[in-house]
Amino acid sequence: MTQGLMQTASLRIIDILRFAASAHPTQEVVSRLVDEPLWRSDYRGVYARVCSCANALRGLGVRAGDRVASLAWNTHRHFELFYAVPGIGAVLHTANPRLSEDQIVYTLNHGGSQILFFDRTFLPLIERLKPRLPDIRTYVMMCEQDAPAPDVLGYDSLLRTASPIINWPTIDENSGAFLCYTSGTTGDPKGVVYSHRAIVLHAFAAGLSGAFGLSAFDVVMPCSSLYHATAWGLPFAAPVNGCKLVLPCDKMDGQSLQDLIEGEGVTFTGGVPTIWTMYLAHLEATGETPGRLQRVVIGGSAVPRAMASAFKTRYDVTVLQIWGMTETCPLGVVATPTPALADRGEDAMQEVIWTRQGRLQFGIELRIEDEEGLELPWDGESSGALLVKGPWTIQRYYRQESDAARSDGWFDTGDIATIDPDGFMRITDRKKDVIKSGGEWISSIDLENAASACKGVKIAAVVGVPHPKWEERPVLVIEAHAPGAVSEADVRAHLEPLIARWWMPDRIIFDTAPLTATGKIDKKALRSRYASLLIGDG
Ligand code: ADP
Repeated sequence: MTQGLMQTASLRIIDILRFAASAHPTQEVVSRLVDEPLWRSDYRGVYARVCSCANALRGLGVRAGDRVASLAWNTHRHFELFYAVPGIGAVLHTANPRLSEDQIVYTLNHGGSQILFFDRTFLPLIERLKPRLPDIRTYVMMCEQDAPAPDVLGYDSLLRTASPIINWPTIDENSGAFLCYTSGTTGDPKGVVYSHRAIVLHAFAAGLSGAFGLSAFDVVMPCSSLYHATAWGLPFAAPVNGCKLVLPCDKMDGQSLQDLIEGEGVTFTGGVPTIWTMYLAHLEATGETPGRLQRVVIGGSAVPRAMASAFKTRYDVTVLQIWGMTETCPLGVVATPTPALADRGEDAMQEVIWTRQGRLQFGIELRIEDEEGLELPWDGESSGALLVKGPWTIQRYYRQESDAARSDGWFDTGDIATIDPDGFMRITDRKKDVIKSGGEWISSIDLENAASACKGVKIAAVVGVPHPKWEERPVLVIEAHAPGAVSEADVRAHLEPLIARWWMPDRIIFDTAPLTATGKIDKKALRSRYASLLIGDG
């Protein structure tokens, strides 16, 4: 073997921010806060605060390998913890405040942090939960004040009194940096520990031209939560590429988003589909336009085709659909053009981009398998279990004995997908959401996609409900833009030419769609709400 003769420095997360502070020192970082005015600094300023934060953490007794928890929105203080905590070799557990209280307690105790950083919003919650959190000995509120509440430290005052760290410690690039829990739609949430290496490689990959295509001319606003799979890596991809960064706190309503998109010149943003439904409705109602916005990355659940086409045709904004999961850091595929598609003409290209989750990216391999585990062809037709592998795919869940990935490295995502000859992947369903009717499968995602394009429909959710004759039949739940904005007859007439006859939902119900902790339609809640609806039909 000939040994490589290059340097072997570890990939460390802190070096991303060190780079941004040196190469783009005056590039702005802007943050909304819970109850303070808009905060404005730059990468040099943020890096200086991160250096103080690191020593403040050490002063609180944090050592390499320890977990430190946060319960916080998308703010500059949370962003600072993203660098300071892994910077000293500790692991940031970004707890998800939208989980149920029991699940928050479960994840915090399972994570084993001794310090909890939180936004003021969560003070009442923390007062309630404190007796159930025996490991946590220090509470820090992310605010300006010195002593914001009894037995609670103030974050800014900790930074003010700490000396800045001068030398960041050497860190094994495979050591843990973040602990993120899945939202536990089945069973207890499971912990995924991201390594420095995975985060840094993922940050490089996210910015590539075939993925997000970021440059220092971009103004990036992550609207996916920092606590949910690190906001799709944007807190790392933005500084790697020298982008201005805008953090919207928890204000995801149309007006608040528009204020920042317009006011800060946002060119690139991203979040789950529900946020963009609200944003598009805001633009429509006010007649406003999205300023300099060019790209919106949307994922977490399927992007309705109607949403992607509305952004493009009305506002000339490109939607980049992504698919990924907590277990993949989370980026898996991104829907961006290729020359092969462009050769087929604009319409054909858009059709592919608007109806697929995305295409194969370097760093994450894809495979589809039938029920016997045999590999299925990439013909765009054969659908099977989707498996992934690569340097930012999970090997094992936190504190579990056995691997989550198979011995050959493949991790079963729990999704059902097709892959076409161009490497574009389409999710047809999650295994547990697919509707089995008369021995055939109905894709809930395809049905939702078709229904959500109907005028007046805000959210369309489809679940399989037990049926005495057909095993399961689809029930469609519609949340309308306004009461009476759309009728059952409208929806049926709209669906008829778009779907096979036997896919027509047995019932159409007008109701609000319950959402999960990660902003997805809560199919489990819907299934149990309508479990007995069709019993007696037959
Ligand atoms: P949770 O599992 O807690 O809901 P994740 O964010 O890890 O949280 O969810 C990952 C799952 O979300 C994927 O396995 C897939 O089912 C779904 N998903 C993510 N992006 C898309 C997308 N663009 N289209 C359809 N489903 C998606």
